[in-house]
Amino acid sequence: MKKLNKNFNLLADDYLFAKVSAAVEKYKADFPQSDIISLGVGDATQPLVGKVIKACNDAAFEMSTDKFFRGYGPYDGYPFLKQAIVDYYKRRGVVIDIDDVFVTDGAKNGVGNLLDIFDSDVSVMIPDPVYPAYVDANVMAGHKIVYVEGNRGNGFLPMPSKKIKADLIYICSPNNPTGAAYTVDQLKEWVKFALDTDAIIIYDAAYEAFAEEKNIARSIYQVNGARDCAIEICSLSKIAGFTGVRCGWTVIPGGNLTNVNRMWYKRQSIKSNGTGYIVQRMAEAALKGGYDEVVKSLGVYKSNAKLITDKFKKLGMEFTGGVNSPYIWFYTGVDSWEFFDYLLKKAKIVCTPGSGFGKNCNGWIRITAFNTPARTAEAIKRFEMFWKDFIEVRGSIFKPLKK
Ligand code: PLP
Repeated sequence: MKKLNKNFNLLADDYLFAKVSAAVEKYKADFPQSDIISLGVGDATQPLVGKVIKACNDAAFEMSTDKFFRGYGPYDGYPFLKQAIVDYYKRRGVVIDIDDVFVTDGAKNGVGNLLDIFDSDVSVMIPDPVYPAYVDANVMAGHKIVYVEGNRGNGFLPMPSKKIKADLIYICSPNNPTGAAYTVDQLKEWVKFALDTDAIIIYDAAYEAFAEEKNIARSIYQVNGARDCAIEICSLSKIAGFTGVRCGWTVIPGGNLTNVNRMWYKRQSIKSNGTGYIVQRMAEAALKGGYDEVVKSLGVYKSNAKLITDKFKKLGMEFTGGVNSPYIWFYTGVDSWEFFDYLLKKAKIVCTPGSGFGKNCNGWIRITAFNTPARTAEAIKRFEMFWKDFIEVRGSIFKPLKK
């Protein structure tokens, strides 16, 4: 069928997480009694909080009544949720306008679908390593991709360089998979660069709620000038456990980007009928009345992350993340997939091979804080014993990687 989009042939054969799950399933089939702990997933594990569930039940009840039943909602989201999002920003000192906000069914929607409003010949700058959907969405669209390298030298936080330019610039902070997070000062440089080169930044803030340290950015709009060059994408997936509920938002400020804002409205109205009313009421509760509960629930992941990083420090390991992020990214000195197999076999722990996230990441591993405190504690106990043994045998059974 020659009419199919030939760019699909350029996509990597196997999605990273599908490959990880196939390897785990095979291991489980071979060793059905093993007690496997997953530190591999980037998915919420804490249940939805009480006020969100109440909002869900209340909204479902409304839908059962003649008086309050609702059909299609506004393409860009109900004003009650858009206002809750505006207020959420305001609480961290960031001013956005209600018309800047578009409710979506999650950040992935923004990451991929935003490309509809740009020309087919745009060039795109993507950090490496990063969340794989940026590359895949742009490969599907046939865009020219240039990479900016994150590495141990720059703490996995690449900065702009005059040598590499593009029409669109993706930034993910706090970053998946490395957990590294830009400071507001570092983002100033990116905003200046975007303004100087007439580029648009697509800023993915899906993990902003994990930012703990004061100087770490929670939004690109903390930087003056960002309203003129940056689109921000965010999500309740990791903030409030909405990975299975599906709700996020895209911010495209008026002003310099008004025509981009209007084109996105048009795109959404043509290709989407928005996000469900019940889900939007749940999202409103997560950001308003239920926010204290949400913060408490997030605290579970944060303390898991601390448990992991405290142990990694004690073991003298090289790692990033875990402080402003649920992700911890560590170096092993051996092939990432070989380490994955060895960790699964010896400690029954699932991790994600870093080589799946970027070109120069062999040797690195991502683990996550998404698990219960008890399972995380058990994993860390096993990991400590595993790592001590691994360090002893590494030179004799693994081929070393060049640093
Ligand atoms: N952006 C990043 C950096 C992610 O890691 C993820 C999911 O893991 C997403 C976006 C997608 O989030 P959502 O569930 O809101 O679609």
